[in-house]
Amino acid sequence: MPDANRPYPLLINGEWIETSESFPVLDKFSGEAFARVCQADPELADRAVALAAKALDAGPPPPHARAEVLYAAARLIEEYRDRLVEAMVSEAGFTTVDAGTEVSRAKLTLELSAETAKHFAGHVVPFGAHPGSENRIGFTLRDPIGVVCAITPFNSPLNTVLHKVGPSFAAGNPTVLKPSSLTPVTANIMGELLVEAGMPAGFLHIVQGPGALGETLLKNQTVAFYTFTGSTRVGRIIQSHAGLRRTQMELGSIASTIVCDDADLAVAIPKIANAGLRKAGQVCTSVQRLYVQESVHDQVLEGLVKVAGTLVAGDPRDPATKVGPLISLEAAKRGEAWIQSAVAAGAKLHCGGTRTGSVIEPAILSDMPETEQAWCNEAFAPLIVLRRFSDFDEAIDGANDTPYGLAAGVFTSNMQRAMAAMKRLRFGTVQINETSSARADVMPFGGVKESGFGKEGPSYAAAEMSIERLIVLNP
Ligand code: NAD
Repeated sequence: MPDANRPYPLLINGEWIETSESFPVLDKFSGEAFARVCQADPELADRAVALAAKALDAGPPPPHARAEVLYAAARLIEEYRDRLVEAMVSEAGFTTVDAGTEVSRAKLTLELSAETAKHFAGHVVPFGAHPGSENRIGFTLRDPIGVVCAITPFNSPLNTVLHKVGPSFAAGNPTVLKPSSLTPVTANIMGELLVEAGMPAGFLHIVQGPGALGETLLKNQTVAFYTFTGSTRVGRIIQSHAGLRRTQMELGSIASTIVCDDADLAVAIPKIANAGLRKAGQVCTSVQRLYVQESVHDQVLEGLVKVAGTLVAGDPRDPATKVGPLISLEAAKRGEAWIQSAVAAGAKLHCGGTRTGSVIEPAILSDMPETEQAWCNEAFAPLIVLRRFSDFDEAIDGANDTPYGLAAGVFTSNMQRAMAAMKRLRFGTVQINETSSARADVMPFGGVKESGFGKEGPSYAAAEMSIERLIVLNP
């Protein structure tokens, strides 16, 4: 285990390495450095990739052994819970409840990855369906794709990492992970856990550093696959370097939820408040736009303002706090400026919106001009913007009218509306009687349009990170 008084080291080939350069990690509430993390230089990043390739050349452990490592990691989660929660409260600003939920999810993600390893196989081709081919026997084999490079964001520092490392190993790949430099400690602790669970040296390397380190990994032609979660801006950079190499892109979003006049508002309102404001709105599927049918608009508005008023914003260590700080002072200042600009342009601010340090009081807004940033750009802040609609098609068209398409939700008890929403909403996930933000880790999760492509969810991600080859036996 690394020494707590030294900078967190890097994991290279099963060993914890210290480098001469390190960078501070800030507590997102106090703004003070609480840890340092060693920084990888380009040479070390390239060495990690070379060692990963060497490990793959020597052959991955068989699927049952990969499953055993992942199950062992799932069993270890409880032992690491307190450290993981503490790291996320400090470096991500999560409340202890939100951090605890991340840890519980992580256990399930590891178990699903272990199951994926066990079932990792191709399929039989039904040649009998093709006249003249009935005597052939065909099946596919699934092979590891090669060295996987995982680049992850700040806003879910445990699960965005495990949704990549778990399935990659399940598929037999070695992974070089570059976590967000804003939340590197959680990834390091997870690395310790995986090493203790028996992750073979060579199959997981953790290199820490800023976006420039990510660029080094993009230039390395030994990497076979990039799995990325983060902004659409950086996704474009990664894709431009990938060339013919395969990628999986989980990118930005403006998520919408629609509330119809026939919805069960007692169910919808608390779900929407939670989905828009938890983790200070820094969730890719967070409800930013809320389309509400005219006749229930004021009731929904009133309900949301009431719930938002009960959500204490502040120090994530205080058990009363429900909305912690944003990831940086700059992010909080930007959120505040977007709210102020919208109000100056005629939007109504019904509660919240004031900033203290990097904490923004949860804000409920309505009547916002469509040209405002808080409406037409990803906010990643604790705010929900309501818009009235009279005709359901109008709400669908509005929700579709962004460059993104990650997730949408619709509250209705009318089957015709549910069917229309299912057919017409251009999002990777459409949920009926749920918000855009509900996620079970078993789901195939991913976006369309500028929200990216490829699916997460361990079994789907492992399929993305593999090569399927066909074998045909002719008589
Ligand atoms: P970001 O794009 O700024 O950073 C993500 C990662 O990319 C970090 O590790 C960063 O260091 C690295 N990076 C930055 N520049 C790079 C470069 N030039 N080359 C290679 N790597 C580089 O994203 P963020 O601010 O950490 O996260 C928030 C974003 O992530 C939001 O847009 C959010 O919607 C998105 N997100 C999407 C999903 C999803 O499933 N679609 C999930 C979570 C977050």
